[in-house]
Amino acid sequence: MYHSIKSVHRNEVMRSIHVSPRSFALQMRIIKALDFKVCSVGDAIQRKKAGCKSRIIALSFDDAYENVYDTALPILRKYGFSATIYAVAGLVGSSNVWDLNSGISENTLMSETQIRDCKAHGIEIGCHTHTHQSLIAFNCQLEQEILESKSALEERFDSEINNFCYPYGHYDDTIVKQVSDAGFKFGVTMDRGISNERDSELLLPRIPITWHTLPHLFIAKILTSYEDNRRVL
Ligand SMILES: [Zn+2]
Repeated sequence: MYHSIKSVHRNEVMRSIHVSPRSFALQMRIIKALDFKVCSVGDAIQRKKAGCKSRIIALSFDDAYENVYDTALPILRKYGFSATIYAVAGLVGSSNVWDLNSGISENTLMSETQIRDCKAHGIEIGCHTHTHQSLIAFNCQLEQEILESKSALEERFDSEINNFCYPYGHYDDTIVKQVSDAGFKFGVTMDRGISNERDSELLLPRIPITWHTLPHLFIAKILTSYEDNRRVL
């Protein structure tokens, strides 16, 4: 799980949501050298269901930042890797306005053209709600955030969107049911762990990769039980 791929100052608020372009390039080199199959979340699940025995890494980029388009996409293309970007349906081409009260810096989100270009290069588009509000907030309009954001993205990008990402990793039983009822097949959380066949496809755990993920930690996260030891369930 990645967010922004950008170099930031040491005093940056929530520095952990950024990964430097240099670290990202090295991480991709590592997984290429380790011979992982690297694909989108949807592809990874299909491959596993089809009995694929290879080691798979599904790359995901929450919020669909423009810096991912500028910096990560060329590296993914170089290695022939795919990924999933989770776009906020009501904020395409805008910025992370949901973060601005918390002191987090403003970062531009991909435009419609950039998202289309990602799709043309085999990147999966997933849905990250309409406004990036927490779905457990008391005033949250669940229908707009879940159902309407799906159809808005489908119409705009002329593509079936069946992959959902819960903002802040917040969910409960009612929310998961609505995600399922809306027609999503997969959902990713911020719960930690390496996904296995016992996980619900609507509540997939992920491995957080942050500014502080140095190479040895990156390798431990993808090759050892480091992340599974941090599972809550
Ligand atoms: Zn997000």
